[in-house]
Amino acid sequence: MNKFTSIFVILFVLGAVFACDSDYDPVNTAFGTKCTAQHHSTFPAPGSRSTALTPNDIPAAELAVHEERMRYILDIARSKNRKFVSSIYHSNGTLMCIGFNDLGKPNLISHGEIMAITNCTNLYGLAAYDGYDLYTTGEPCAMCAGAIMWSHFRTVVWGTYNHDLVCKICMSNIPFESTALFDTYETVKINKIRVIGGVLQQESDAWFGTYCDRPTNIFYIAPKCNCVNVNKTQTLSVNQTRTSSWIDGGNTQYSQWSGVITNIGTTTVTFPNFLSLPSGVAPQSIWGLSRTSVDDQWALAWNPSIAPGATFNFGYIISGNDKLNFYQE
Ligand SMILES: [Zn+2]
Repeated sequence: MNKFTSIFVILFVLGAVFACDSDYDPVNTAFGTKCTAQHHSTFPAPGSRSTALTPNDIPAAELAVHEERMRYILDIARSKNRKFVSSIYHSNGTLMCIGFNDLGKPNLISHGEIMAITNCTNLYGLAAYDGYDLYTTGEPCAMCAGAIMWSHFRTVVWGTYNHDLVCKICMSNIPFESTALFDTYETVKINKIRVIGGVLQQESDAWFGTYCDRPTNIFYIAPKCNCVNVNKTQTLSVNQTRTSSWIDGGNTQYSQWSGVITNIGTTTVTFPNFLSLPSGVAPQSIWGLSRTSVDDQWALAWNPSIAPGATFNFGYIISGNDKLNFYQE
């Protein structure tokens, strides 16, 4: 066991705490000012949406276990002031190992997942992890997803999506949906890994915070995601009103929004498309607009032409209390 392994096995307290910045407003920060091209850029590529299970797909009793384990590594992350923390559990529920990314020490591939796996191998001589479950605050990057596959894990669970790390948090990462790899499990001679994203997502996202307004930070990248030039003159204005909100039996809040698109220009607009922000957020249901084959892009569901002064109504139900912002492309 080398000294670094010992360091990662035995948790230690680090002094300085970086402040977690206030809420990130994509319209006023990264998307509006950092993207030079108007629209869809490199990530996510159309059709690359994560195929990971979400908490809504998981039975309540199982989800409670995942949440408890996610909360544990988030607590470690906060107490050690490190973003990427991973843990490994035996199928009997025993916590075996943890690991975290210690700001690129001892080398730049020492990501939380790699450290947790290495720790377990050093401690218990494990070469393969059939039947073991891995938890991580941030979705595995391309390298770690490969390592998890080669290690034969049974389950992988994360809090914050890569898409959000890159596109909303402005955190340097490989722009890649890990499920693109996990879905190819048959080529690695392993069973299908149960892949669950977004467990305690809000809490995890909040811990990652935002680097969008911290361009000198080592983690910062200018996101190359779906971008919109909010300064562009919009011929079609979109006004939205929240018509109701409620909390369902599962303690999830929903809100319903009513939108009116008005042609404030002088010519008829035909087949307009709209980009919705934040990127990757979809309504539970929507009417009047229909999704195109491009991520976060919407078209009018009927009568796709709006004359000057005319209006078009749409509406949707979304989890949470915030509306989607729609911009004419
Ligand atoms: Zn990684």
